[in-house]
Amino acid sequence: MHRIKLFVPQAKRNITTVYSNVTRNIAALSMLPDTYQMLQKTCKDFADGELKPVAKEIDKNHLYPEEKIKQMGELGLMAITVPERLGGTGLDYLAYAIALEEISRGCASAGVIMSVNNSLYLGPINSFGNQEQQEKYITPFVSGTKVGCFALSEPGNGSDAGAASTTAKSNGSNYIINGTKSWITNGHESEAAVLFATTDKSKKHKGISAFIVDKPIKGLSLGKKEDKLGIRGSSTCSLIFEDCEIPKENLLGELGMGFKIAMMTLDAGRIGIASQALGIAQASLDCAIEYAAKREAFGKPIVKLQAIQQKIADMAVKLESSRLLTWRAAVLKDKGLLYTKEAAMAKLAASEAATFCAHQCIQILGGMGYVSDMPAERHYRDARITEIYEGTSEIQRLVIAANVIKEYGLN
Ligand SMILES: Cc1cc2nc3c(=O)[nH]c(=O)nc-3n(C[C@H](O)[C@H](O)[C@H](O)COP(=O)(O)OP(=O)(O)OC[C@H]3O[C@@H](n4cnc5c(N)ncnc54)[C@H](O)[C@@H]3O)c2cc1C
Repeated sequence: MHRIKLFVPQAKRNITTVYSNVTRNIAALSMLPDTYQMLQKTCKDFADGELKPVAKEIDKNHLYPEEKIKQMGELGLMAITVPERLGGTGLDYLAYAIALEEISRGCASAGVIMSVNNSLYLGPINSFGNQEQQEKYITPFVSGTKVGCFALSEPGNGSDAGAASTTAKSNGSNYIINGTKSWITNGHESEAAVLFATTDKSKKHKGISAFIVDKPIKGLSLGKKEDKLGIRGSSTCSLIFEDCEIPKENLLGELGMGFKIAMMTLDAGRIGIASQALGIAQASLDCAIEYAAKREAFGKPIVKLQAIQQKIADMAVKLESSRLLTWRAAVLKDKGLLYTKEAAMAKLAASEAATFCAHQCIQILGGMGYVSDMPAERHYRDARITEIYEGTSEIQRLVIAANVIKEYGLN
């Protein structure tokens, strides 16, 4: 049974020739220095050659893409902004955003694993760790053979991260950790965690401290792997601490600095999730156009129908505008300027663009959009998480509004 009516020769010649001759136009990429263009090309080739062919299987069977992550490590993608002296690639956040978009276009699960290792695990240790911590907990985690995780959320509080109930009590030489962290990406495979726990409950969020925890470790058990809607190649689970002793020297930054570390880490992480969302949005647009060029209805390829073109235009505008927001946030970070509002704007716009583009992609594919023979339904499932983790869209709006109001001199 033919589920797709293949195109007539003339239409095929017209449309596929155009399609294959055009280098996918990444907005404004050609205005960037060669380094970024070369990086994008490397990541694009890797995504097309190594990730796209296996993304369906990774999703279907909930497979952690171990070999692919190692290959990404070999390409320098697992520690893009870590300085070369620590074994990292020594590039900037704009480079990270460009690379992560391409990887996520190939496989959104690989994208989130890369994003958590780069932004959420290595990021805070790079910014707040002392030399010993950096050598012990960064250098072995740059090559993709080991990954880290970030443990902030709890069963009782996600958006309200300052209400952490996991405790860290000092017994002189160690901290004793008790409590449960939930929804932890890379929870199963990670060999170390950046953990947030309260050292002084009376101080509320100012009593939260950050720690580095080796995994596995006595007193830490893992919950079941969550059965997720999307990004199913990444593991998500609870970390359950029961009298887990960690050495005092594993305190990251100063006592009571944890909430600040978490918020600063999430500011940067949001640029990563925005980039992941861009990759999913781009994959959806690619899929939609490729299909629309081949599929015929009423005697011509549906790409020639204005109703379809309207959707393509809306998808492209949302995608390219959110890409520019994402790159702006990255550039501000690279310049050492404030970027909290801009990162929230980028994440909000890009995640909503991803959901929109994936939704429209399914619509353009019709029935074929609804079955797993085509990647559209996977993009739709993968897109949805980008509006939830590292701050929901509602939280991004709060962050944006608070900053905009402040810019007007109001509090
Ligand atoms: C697949 C997956 C991976 C994740 N990975 C990690 C990880 O690696 N590390 C980690 O620490 N966490 C992780 N998380 C947790 C994630 O960050 C939280 O789920 C998210 O922050 C939302 O928290 P919550 O689920 O508790 O929802 P809640 O905070 O309970 O929110 C529920 C709803 O209420 C809304 N809401 C809450 N407060 C407000 C407000 N003030 N104003 C308006 N609306 C509000 C929210 O927007 C949401 O719509 C992950 C989650 C998932 C699903």
